[in-house]
Amino acid sequence: MTTEELLHFDREHIWHPYTSTIDPLPVYPVERAEGVTITLKDGRKLIDGMSSWWAAVHGYNHPVLNAAVKAQLEKMSHIMFGGFTHEPAVELAAKLLPLLPPTMEKLFFADSGSVAVEVALKMAIQYWQAKGMPRKHAFATIRSGYHGDTWHAMSVCDPVTGMHGIFAGSLPVQYFIPQPSVKFGEEWDDRAMKPLKDLLEKHSNEIAALILEPVVQGAGGMYFYSPQFLVAARELCDRYQVLLIFDEIATGFGRTGRLFAWEWAAVEPDIMCIGKALTGGYMTLSATATSTPVANTICGGEAGCFMHGPTFMGNPLACAVASASVTLLLESGWQEKVKGIEAQLREELAVAASFPGVQEVRVLGAIGVIEMKEPVDMAVLQKRFVEAGIWVRPFGRLVYLMPPFIISKKELSKLTKELLAILKE
Ligand code: PMP
Repeated sequence: MTTEELLHFDREHIWHPYTSTIDPLPVYPVERAEGVTITLKDGRKLIDGMSSWWAAVHGYNHPVLNAAVKAQLEKMSHIMFGGFTHEPAVELAAKLLPLLPPTMEKLFFADSGSVAVEVALKMAIQYWQAKGMPRKHAFATIRSGYHGDTWHAMSVCDPVTGMHGIFAGSLPVQYFIPQPSVKFGEEWDDRAMKPLKDLLEKHSNEIAALILEPVVQGAGGMYFYSPQFLVAARELCDRYQVLLIFDEIATGFGRTGRLFAWEWAAVEPDIMCIGKALTGGYMTLSATATSTPVANTICGGEAGCFMHGPTFMGNPLACAVASASVTLLLESGWQEKVKGIEAQLREELAVAASFPGVQEVRVLGAIGVIEMKEPVDMAVLQKRFVEAGIWVRPFGRLVYLMPPFIISKKELSKLTKELLAILKE
């Protein structure tokens, strides 16, 4: 198939994320990817600034992860999880649980981040039903959040920036409070908790759980807020009998500078979702963790079990590569790498704050965000980035970098230099 034929067929028949079939955004055919280098079919090479949406923390085509996939493939790529178990799932769970908050003892493997969120929300509803409080079935969250594209996950995404406003009429109505007003690094002010306190005071008899992306909000706004908000939210949830869910699908596995973002506040959730970098970006897998009391309450209820069980639950191939990825991460000196990326992003992106089109520049861990004053033209900018040899995919007013942790100083400098040169125009 020639590149032209490939692009033509793609354009005629295949949907890409958030694109039109009438006037699709351009796509670039990729031939291969290795380390932080993405090679296009026409031979052009791009430095990856996205980690394939937070996932490919070790870069691409990693020999250790490749070996893990190959070894598992020789045994079995999949087997149903109903009635069976296997080493890859058990090994992965045994590796993950000690890395999660200490009370997290029960793990549910699911297929994607969105499904992990669905699972968490269903757990919360079954929990309150089992407690004899079935009226507690709504959810509270903060504005500018993003939790996925499936039905209930959509309902807790920000109705405006969460890209799902069009479904508002048919989604369950949830309770939204403003974004935490105290930013990361700013001095804490207790008044920031008033909206949550007021909400819970009025509606806690209907609210099953508060769901949050701890410290870093991702796709809904790339906003960093004070960890103290989590401490105070935990207290309020306890006081008003509301479960607390941390969605660490984007923040997990070192991205914010801590292995998981809850560590910034050292408060534990009742339920926690992980995904994305779990498999080092190799394939889709997620997990929802909870405590023994929550799990056992759910299972002591009328249903007698937790009501979810996907076909590809605990997929052995995904678990095997996730297991290898977690070990690789823990042995990689990721803290130093993330610190190095953070320092370099801070230094090299700072100048953008003086560009006329730029609202704010912020950096935390291996995440660098340039918030523009106006929404950017993604297709135009993307083309310019590709011509300059970098892969950056902006959305709305946000242009951001979250490179693989293995990126070298020189590669990251090329990324920031080309990015700034284009944004300056
Ligand atoms: N939660 C968060 C915080 C996310 O960033 C995302 C993905 N952007 C999801 C959930 C959904 O994950 P997935 O795309 O794997 O369904």
